Amino acid sequence: MGKKKSDTIVITGGAGFLGSHLCDKALALGHQVICVDNFLTGSPDNIAHLIGRPGFRFIKHDVSQDLYLTEPVQAILHFASPASPRDYLEYPIQTLKVGALGTHKMLGLAKAKKARFLLASTSEVYGDPQIHPQQETYWGHVNPVGPRGVYDEAKRYAEALSMAYHRTHGVAVRIVRIFNTFGPRMRQHDGRAVPEFISAALRNKPIPVFGQGLQTRSLCYIEDEVEGLLKLLFSKHVGPINIGNPQEHTILEIAELIKKLTRSKSRIVFKPLPTDDPKVRQPDIALAKKLLGWSPKVSLEHGLKKTIDWFRKEI
Ligand code: NAD
Repeated sequence: MGKKKSDTIVITGGAGFLGSHLCDKALALGHQVICVDNFLTGSPDNIAHLIGRPGFRFIKHDVSQDLYLTEPVQAILHFASPASPRDYLEYPIQTLKVGALGTHKMLGLAKAKKARFLLASTSEVYGDPQIHPQQETYWGHVNPVGPRGVYDEAKRYAEALSMAYHRTHGVAVRIVRIFNTFGPRMRQHDGRAVPEFISAALRNKPIPVFGQGLQTRSLCYIEDEVEGLLKLLFSKHVGPINIGNPQEHTILEIAELIKKLTRSKSRIVFKPLPTDDPKVRQPDIALAKKLLGWSPKVSLEHGLKKTIDWFRKEI
């Protein structure tokens, strides 16, 4: 596919956080968008503004089941999957199914339609990493039988399946390893640090930090992430490619910054560290810079301010 205006793009998980922003951007670029979602962790609110808009179609469907489309399709962006630890621990089997069966069905559709296939993989394929920062060549340090294994291994399998379809059937696969992304439309209580901290801070309730908060995360603002994802989609690089912001912060620093930006009276409280919680997380984005000419532009503070403004309206 090129960047033709008439391209039809299927976005699975399109009613979720990342997927709904992708729907917005693809429509803004003039594409036709078919958004497919079963609302397992997403919400109709995320796409309410798109319903009835020319070029946008919504199909409520579980992508672990066959999906039949009559029209030509140029690209499939496979983003359907529970993504926050709280969600995939609540839906462990659905998470494995959508990573395995869902990816299989969508690769089958891509093969039938001769469409490009972008897999939303994750930095979690690196597990609790033993090298830092994480490069695409690193194979990871994942506990397959731990509680988080349901997500990490589903995504590792999805990567392997995508490569098999690429090698065997010539499907134009693109694999992105997404690092922690944040922004408007995250759910307040999905268990991820940014929405959890902001909603606690705005209510002047205790801000829960796991462990001593010394574990690190590198947070990418949604606008930057979406730009990187589309650059990869329209490129000729199969990947995997890390797309994330390499600016690394401790969880405690992030909690303190959110407390400051919201002018909150909240206390920071420390909770037990969850099993297999990664101690460090930072993307090496040399490949994205070199192959896609992409690097993030939005600072953590600016992105947090925009996210806080959105949450303020929601709360
Ligand atoms: P999200 O929960 O907001 O969105 C996921 C969407 O997928 C939801 O709308 C959900 O209803 C839908 N879904 C789940 N199972 C489905 C199924 N079987 N059929 C149809 N729809 C289904 O999560 P998100 O943060 O937007 O994540 C989107 C994708 O990006 C996921 O694949 C996730 O693994 C990946 N990712 C996200 C991040 C991040 O920081 N947000 C980081 C790494 C990877």
